[in-house]
Amino acid sequence: MGEDFEHIVIGAGISGLGMAHCSVKRGVSTLVLEEGNRVGGCMNTWTFPDCDDFWTEAGSHTCFNSYGNLLGILKDLGLMERLTGKGKLHYRLWRNNESRSIFSSLHPWELIRSLPHLFSGTKADRSVAEFFGAGLGRRNYRDLFGPAFRAVVCQEADDFPADLLFRRKPKQKEVMRSFTFPGGLSDIPRAIARQDALEVRTGQRVSGVVRVSDGYQVRTAAGEVLRSRSLSLAVPPDAAAALLPEGLEELRDLVGGIGISEIETVVVCVPATALAHLLPLAGLISVDDAFYSMVSRDYLPDDRYRGFAFHFRPRKLDADARIERICRALGITPDRIAGLFRVSNKLPALRAGHSELVRKIDTLLAGDRLAITGNWFLGVSIEDCLTRSYQECRRLFPG
Ligand SMILES: Cc1cc2nc3c(=O)[nH]c(=O)nc-3n(C[C@H](O)[C@H](O)[C@H](O)COP(=O)(O)OP(=O)(O)OC[C@H]3O[C@@H](n4cnc5c(N)ncnc54)[C@H](O)[C@@H]3O)c2cc1C
Repeated sequence: MGEDFEHIVIGAGISGLGMAHCSVKRGVSTLVLEEGNRVGGCMNTWTFPDCDDFWTEAGSHTCFNSYGNLLGILKDLGLMERLTGKGKLHYRLWRNNESRSIFSSLHPWELIRSLPHLFSGTKADRSVAEFFGAGLGRRNYRDLFGPAFRAVVCQEADDFPADLLFRRKPKQKEVMRSFTFPGGLSDIPRAIARQDALEVRTGQRVSGVVRVSDGYQVRTAAGEVLRSRSLSLAVPPDAAAALLPEGLEELRDLVGGIGISEIETVVVCVPATALAHLLPLAGLISVDDAFYSMVSRDYLPDDRYRGFAFHFRPRKLDADARIERICRALGITPDRIAGLFRVSNKLPALRAGHSELVRKIDTLLAGDRLAITGNWFLGVSIEDCLTRSYQECRRLFPG
């Protein structure tokens, strides 16, 4: 015998927590099961215990005033007062082991000649390289925008769907343009998970799902069996494919075909006094190095420490070589690193034409008590995740 719930959500990243928040608001008793020992998934603020609890983001770092669903959740939870503005800083390019201004790689005449294509062309079914290469100029794409898009999606961006790279979202002008939280973005998933109406269990890897007459049976790796009338999968596509129950083979094939991009992130904390030579910056966009990007914590200055997350291509360099690259980019020696944290991140490797695949997935899900959400439907941003979760929540629990 197992426990019964109205709704079980598998995965406590922002997609799963958004789904759960929506369903408890609709009065549905909801349990969230998370494999890791913390909630948030890619929203992962790392605190360095040996550096006076100074924190740096190991995953997502910025939310915008165009994140309407997120702002709705923050209002529900009474968190709007805690929004913390980010200092205005600029990214720089990292090329040939040198930091340069973005404009040093811009070909302005080519940009002016190409721009009409950007405003007249359609993004649908076109790759980032096709659409933005034509709209910004091939050399601009090669030298500047290609590396910048790669930094945004932390993977080769050429084949990524142009319509899912940046989706236009209405801005709430009364809210600050970009923000974080006093304890970093992990404050958000933690606050969602803490609400009384919601039960969240961490350290619970789900190993199998079976369809039963009145819903779903969920088995955890520890051997526990739970039952629910409705079920939501909010895990990366490879994990979702492995969990889709028998009878949904066509769906499993579609989901299993979605690629995954791995990112090896190294976060370092350095005493501010060791970095007097490095002006505050938003981060580095790498053109030709083994990392896609570096994102700094300089947007929230601290007298004692500065923090940097380097997002490396997988399997390119060993641990020591990565430290050597980090030190080169920061202009320090390894002994100046006061704190270090490594984490693997995963993002979906979406391809042009992805929206058609999502339409097929949705056709197969129609009428089912099963929902699927994640950063592999409408785009990878936090708000794209929440938009998908809210669509699926309204489908499962209308009214
Ligand atoms: C380096 C980086 C920087 C980013 N920067 C930004 C940014 O600044 N702004 C922005 O808007 N977006 C940003 N993003 C994107 C955004 O953070 C992610 O797309 C989003 O957080 C993904 O949320 P998710 O819930 O869909 O997936 P995840 O966060 O991957 O969550 C999935 C969860 O499912 C759990 N899980 C998997 N399998 C199982 C199982 N079998 N049983 C139980 N649990 C399971 C995992 O442990 C995980 O916690 C960034 C992403 C990365 C990687």
